[in-house]
Amino acid sequence: MSAAPLLEVRNQTKHFPMQTGLFGRVSAKVHAVNGVSFTVDRGETVAIVGESGCGKSTVGKAILRLFDLTDGEVLLDGRRIDNLPTRVLRPLRRKVQVVFQDPFSSLNPRLRVRDILAEPIRNFGLASSSQDLERRLVSLMEKVRLPVDSLGRWPHEFSGGQRQRIGIARALAAEPDLIICDEAVSALDVSVKAQIINLLQDLQRELGLALLFISHDLAIVEHISQRIIVMYLGRIVEQADKRTLFLSPSHPYTEALLSAVPVPDPTVASRRIILTGDVPSPVKPPSGCFFHTRCPHAEARCRAEVPALVEVAPRQFAACHLRAAMALPAP
Ligand code: SF4
Repeated sequence: MSAAPLLEVRNQTKHFPMQTGLFGRVSAKVHAVNGVSFTVDRGETVAIVGESGCGKSTVGKAILRLFDLTDGEVLLDGRRIDNLPTRVLRPLRRKVQVVFQDPFSSLNPRLRVRDILAEPIRNFGLASSSQDLERRLVSLMEKVRLPVDSLGRWPHEFSGGQRQRIGIARALAAEPDLIICDEAVSALDVSVKAQIINLLQDLQRELGLALLFISHDLAIVEHISQRIIVMYLGRIVEQADKRTLFLSPSHPYTEALLSAVPVPDPTVASRRIILTGDVPSPVKPPSGCFFHTRCPHAEARCRAEVPALVEVAPRQFAACHLRAAMALPAP
């Protein structure tokens, strides 16, 4: 087994061109992701959080190679995959699977569950015989806690939570090392959400899977992840292990996000930080620190210089001039 991280994202950058007019002239670019770097180890759950439009889903889709990067690299087991021809990439795709948000549109309504799950097994040549295929299908149903006779049914016969279990089974069918869960429980009711989160945790323990959990919901992220990456307007603003981030957030944006998580203690709830203004457009992001238009601590330097992501405490990284200055060792 390689000593490299399972997944390494280096300086990932994705700018989408905006075309206008009859000839599709590029008039502007959406700066969706800007210089994002992180790793995911085997068996680890890393969460990416941030508001809608912060670029977190684009990070996941670029790892899946649903589009090419503007700049940067993606490495799997130490091997660069973002620039591989499709023919070479194809067998490696098996290692990274995805569970999308909407369990209603992500399953082909014209296929029975059996065929939905058999497709990746056949595509990646995993079954040695028809008996082996059948054994794998039954095992997948057991893994996601659905009755085996579900294999003969159609997607419309299931509830949202059951469909998401089928989506997870489809991801597992390829025997991946990493599953990207892109808002995978956002569309579900609260009680069903908890069941799916518990299922993902059980599967992770049983199978040694790594999860990249993309969500806007900090309460869920707190429950499932070991390490958390906070994104704002396409950049990472903070990265730390879960305990550190929740007990001692460093970046002003993380503090504001955490202050909005409902807590039973009314004295804690009253400390909510209300951010003024809207998230700026990714078409024309602000100069310097992207957060300076809303940050209560912004000063002149913040408008001029992009803050680097630096270690402000052991294994806690923040992109903030103020926090970096406070973290400097005494001379
Ligand atoms: Fe606020 Fe400045 Fe820090 Fe950005 S760099 S988060 S504007 S204090």
